[in-house]
Amino acid sequence: MSAKPRVVIVGAGFGGMAAARVLGRGVADVVVVDRDNYHGFWPLLYQVATAGLDAQDIALPVRRSLSRLPGVEVRLGAVERVDTDRQLVFLADGNAPLTYDYLVLAAGSVTATFGVDGVAEHAFPLKTIPDAVGLRNHLITRFERLDAAPETAQPGDLDVVVVGGGPTGVELAGALSELIGADLARDFPHLDLAHAMIHLVEMTDQLLGAFSVASRERARRDLVARGVDVKLGAAIRRVAADHVEFADGTSLPAGTVVWAAGVRPSPLATALDLPLSTRGGVVVGDDLSVPERPTVFAIGDLATAIDPDGRPYPQLASVAIQQGRYVAHVIERRIAGRPTPRFQYRNRGIMATIGRRAAVADLPLGVHLGGSLGWFSWLGVHLVFLMDTRRRALVLLKWAWSYLTWEHGSRAIVNEGEHTPAGPHRA
Ligand SMILES: Cc1cc2nc3c(=O)[nH]c(=O)nc-3n(C[C@H](O)[C@H](O)[C@H](O)COP(=O)(O)OP(=O)(O)OC[C@H]3O[C@@H](n4cnc5c(N)ncnc54)[C@H](O)[C@@H]3O)c2cc1C
Repeated sequence: MSAKPRVVIVGAGFGGMAAARVLGRGVADVVVVDRDNYHGFWPLLYQVATAGLDAQDIALPVRRSLSRLPGVEVRLGAVERVDTDRQLVFLADGNAPLTYDYLVLAAGSVTATFGVDGVAEHAFPLKTIPDAVGLRNHLITRFERLDAAPETAQPGDLDVVVVGGGPTGVELAGALSELIGADLARDFPHLDLAHAMIHLVEMTDQLLGAFSVASRERARRDLVARGVDVKLGAAIRRVAADHVEFADGTSLPAGTVVWAAGVRPSPLATALDLPLSTRGGVVVGDDLSVPERPTVFAIGDLATAIDPDGRPYPQLASVAIQQGRYVAHVIERRIAGRPTPRFQYRNRGIMATIGRRAAVADLPLGVHLGGSLGWFSWLGVHLVFLMDTRRRALVLLKWAWSYLTWEHGSRAIVNEGEHTPAGPHRA
């Protein structure tokens, strides 16, 4: 048996993978546990939902990705609970629990329904690869059905309501307008797609709340120019099978409703017997360890870490990656008996794309990019962070092809049977 300390990392997402890459250099034995055998590149999930990319393009097999790090073991399994007194991690498969000297909790988040009636039953979430594939299948199936029996058309049949005006909602609405306006218009020449409306519904009075005023306004203008109906200050009260109802009593027919209104920390947090914040995240201190449990760390979307201005860090990939690397260094320093500095986030900017040659980017030093410049920087950043050379090359090729031909390649309905919202969202 190795004499090295053993680190268990729960979750092979942005935070967990970043921690494993540093710790796998040799100071500890590392076990990475994930319920899936891939690392999902969520910023491009909406492209899987809108036929721009295939699921495999954004799913990086964890074993392959960590195979060059001899100190890292990978374990497929869903963590159910942790005993922090006995330092044990229990998996749903019922096998012997994993022991640890240090534990890094990086289980991410799930879709938040905010208790709105009908969301779990009738709205499509966009948080996992099955969510994205299910949404794409459902959308394209609706066009196929109407093409086969146009006399059955109901108001709003082909309309899509996207709920949530954050980056996910904005990017999805923009991509849907291109999918329907170009590819599906070509595929279904007998359908009148003038009525296939995309409504982007946001409860506050602005899109992209975390962005600069200039970027928010630009994104709104770009979406409207692409035919998206942007509804601001519109709160959804209920989602039904064929329409949504607003808080003011009005309603909108819709064959497809996508719920992109927000996320909450993974429910694993509640099974851990650790202090939780009001938003359900594991409370951590300045070094991202749990108060009174110095060998347990929580990072990324699962954690509630507070920045020097007293605000929780946003749920972003860049935060999770920096926290993963930081925690790995803290563990290395603890093993070496050295003191640790507090976590400091370096904001490298935020971006959202609206579609072909349209994106907004707020970068450090007050630099705001839009239009083609914003779009090319968005493409570059996402390619760099895609993590794997083969995927980078494939995605670049697909994007170049789509750009030149105005065609999204992945419009096959790959699952058989009925495509319905996932029902109770996966925990
Ligand atoms: C559609 C979408 C678009 C986004 N776009 C952007 C963007 O453009 N830029 C940006 O900065 N951020 C973006 N984000 C947010 C970003 O993806 C998250 O902040 C980031 O993934 C958080 O990293 P994490 O490591 O905490 O969680 P994740 O990356 O979600 O990883 C969590 C991992 O834990 C695993 N897991 C969960 N529960 C268990 C369990 N019980 N047992 C074992 N394993 C478990 C999951 O399978 C997953 O692999 C987006 C998110 C979504 C959903």
